[in-house]
Amino acid sequence: VSIARVALDVPIDTLFDYRIGAHTVRPGQLVVVPFGKRRLVGIVFELTAESQVDNARLRFIQSVLPLDPLPADVLSLIQFASTYYRCPIGEAAFTSLPAPFRQPRYAPAEKQKSYSLPQSVRDALLETIPRRAILLHRIVDALSRAPALTREEARQLSPRAPAALEKWVKSGWIESRLTEVTEQVLDLPLQEDAKLSLTADQANALAELEQGCGKYSPSLLEGITGSGKTEIYFQLIVRALERGQQTLLMVPEINLTPQLEARFHARFDARRLVTLHSNLSSGERARRWMAAASGRAGVVLGTRLSVFAPMPRLGLIIVDEEHDASFKQQEGLRYSARDLALVRAQRLGIPIVLGSATPSLETFHNAQKKKFRHLRLSSRPGAKLPKVRLIDTQSIAMAGGLSEPVLEAIRQRLQRGEQSLIFLNRRGFAPVVVCGACGWVGECGRCSARLVWHLKDAVLRCHYCGHEQRLPLACPTCGDQDLQGLGQGTQRLEQTLAGHFPSARILRIDRDSTRRKGTWDGMLKEIHGDAVDILVGTQMLAKGHDFPKLTLVAIANPDGALYSADFRASEKLFQQLMQVSGRAGRAHLPGEVLVQTRFPTHPLYQALVSQNFPELAEQMLAERQQAGFPPFVAQALLRAEAVSESTVNAFLKRAAKEGATLIEGDVTMYDPVPATMARIAGRHRAHLLMQSPLRPALQRFLQVWTPKLEQLKARNVRWIIDVDPLEL
Ligand code: ADP
Ligand code: ZN
Ligand code: ZN
Repeated sequence: VSIARVALDVPIDTLFDYRIGAHTVRPGQLVVVPFGKRRLVGIVFELTAESQVDNARLRFIQSVLPLDPLPADVLSLIQFASTYYRCPIGEAAFTSLPAPFRQPRYAPAEKQKSYSLPQSVRDALLETIPRRAILLHRIVDALSRAPALTREEARQLSPRAPAALEKWVKSGWIESRLTEVTEQVLDLPLQEDAKLSLTADQANALAELEQGCGKYSPSLLEGITGSGKTEIYFQLIVRALERGQQTLLMVPEINLTPQLEARFHARFDARRLVTLHSNLSSGERARRWMAAASGRAGVVLGTRLSVFAPMPRLGLIIVDEEHDASFKQQEGLRYSARDLALVRAQRLGIPIVLGSATPSLETFHNAQKKKFRHLRLSSRPGAKLPKVRLIDTQSIAMAGGLSEPVLEAIRQRLQRGEQSLIFLNRRGFAPVVVCGACGWVGECGRCSARLVWHLKDAVLRCHYCGHEQRLPLACPTCGDQDLQGLGQGTQRLEQTLAGHFPSARILRIDRDSTRRKGTWDGMLKEIHGDAVDILVGTQMLAKGHDFPKLTLVAIANPDGALYSADFRASEKLFQQLMQVSGRAGRAHLPGEVLVQTRFPTHPLYQALVSQNFPELAEQMLAERQQAGFPPFVAQALLRAEAVSESTVNAFLKRAAKEGATLIEGDVTMYDPVPATMARIAGRHRAHLLMQSPLRPALQRFLQVWTPKLEQLKARNVRWIIDVDPLEL
């Protein structure tokens, strides 16, 4: 062996050969190599004795980075992802690698300030702290458990902790010094497990899941919010830890809230839990990544990118809210982290649990076909199921988008001191602005989208490209001053509610109201601190938060999605409605859900009333089968965009022509069509859809077709293959 085959972060789909020389190199290791005139970090994928390239031209590896090598299963997952999603191997490999490791000059010995508390002064220090200063007591507690507490760890205890520590250093209570840090895992006190006795459903599910231990065994754990899924994850993780195995627990982007993190920290700190997401500083991400790679972190709790986390002792994967769209990356390596997690589990021979209240139809179908074990939790141990009532808006008067039964229900909550949530998935004041005289409609000049009226800033804003303009005083076409906002946005709903309930404390939560960093956290505190009576908000509110006093959820206007062109729209709508309904009612307060609709007999709403997902899922699957949609076929899109419409179309036509000569077997290629959003920020967008009932046939076609596309030398066109697309 004298040659290393190395992946580099360059847009060429190949491994590059380098001579190893005097270094000791293993697969998975990060090495520094010369590339043209540059030096790059690369990942060693293979070692071989000989290269296809003329040996005289091969260059030498310059150095090996002092890091644990990526385990074989991660390398194999990257290779799979690169092939399956048609992404150059280097780009796929570097998608998840923390930025510091891409530096050829990477040096791990970073120094960080750390604090330690001599045992002898511990009690004396404690005496100076007021009894009720809980935070300070926690800091001392953490200090006396660990040999040293780093600044970063202290910050995780509380943003105010570093300042408190500095004060103690100044007064001589504790010592500080610079230490080398190679990992960042907290070691907080382990809280006593709440000794719950599992429900029969839970016990049964747990027993079945335990049977899958030690081999590839995929399971769907279906249960509504509050049915105790997380509790089962806890128990599975504890057992894995006892066997000396690591667990990867993946959650949607928006669900990785401080609340969830705290809940896990409370159970697992002592056994070392790290969270991994894109919102960390790159240094912090690197340290946590190393904690996973070294095997010291027993649990990695992360968002989609954590599917690539190196975990040498990985024994269990859990994907919570497996249906969530944020598991699919929408740029670069367009992977589905849920699907890759299944591949990873299969190749490693370990169990994987997919949890959801409303499984994706793909997963549900797999469970029906018995490819996945199907487990159900049908009750809520801590609370009753919410009562869902449909309000037929065809036969009832509406005032500003709200019906009398909804207003009455809110009134009752106000009297009882409980919270209400009004859900409307549309931010802004009014989604459309029109001129009453000539019919002019406010549209974005750069997108095929209407401008949304935002009342507070008095602007019209495009929600696709961000374009913003002042609300015109008069119609730009006819000069009439009677411009009207049509439809309801969250801002208008907020205004309507304030009119009805002048003394209620109303809080609007959407991307506009939480735009500034930190406001969202502040708002969560207000909600929990009982400073809010009525919440108005978009789907930001639907996920991952428990509001103990929330007993009413009213869904203002959900009908739009029922007749959308997107065949997944009703699936998504139902997932959203179930999720937001799940916010209603907790421990001792039963919840109520009111849905305003013009179609109360629609099966989707009926399923919401009966909280019967399986029946609806079966019906939706039957429709998909008949129409020939996923999961009964596999799809791939060639997406293209360019400034000029004719450039896009010409490219797609050439691509289609190339494709037509290559098609074999049961693969269908459709004509190029404009994307649902045909123009965004001045670029025209269109696509070609390929599909096949046989995934391997489609894959074979893509393998031969994509190289041809690269040869088309399409200038001024950006294109990408999207395998298993979620949106058209
Ligand atoms: P999910 O993850 O399905 O939303 P959780 O596991 O978070 O459900 O459980 C919801 C609530 O019910 C939590 O407060 C949890 O502590 C509680 N809970 C879960 N299982 C039990 C049980 N067997 N007995 C009592 N309470 C439970
Ligand atoms: Zn006009
Ligand atoms: Zn726009």
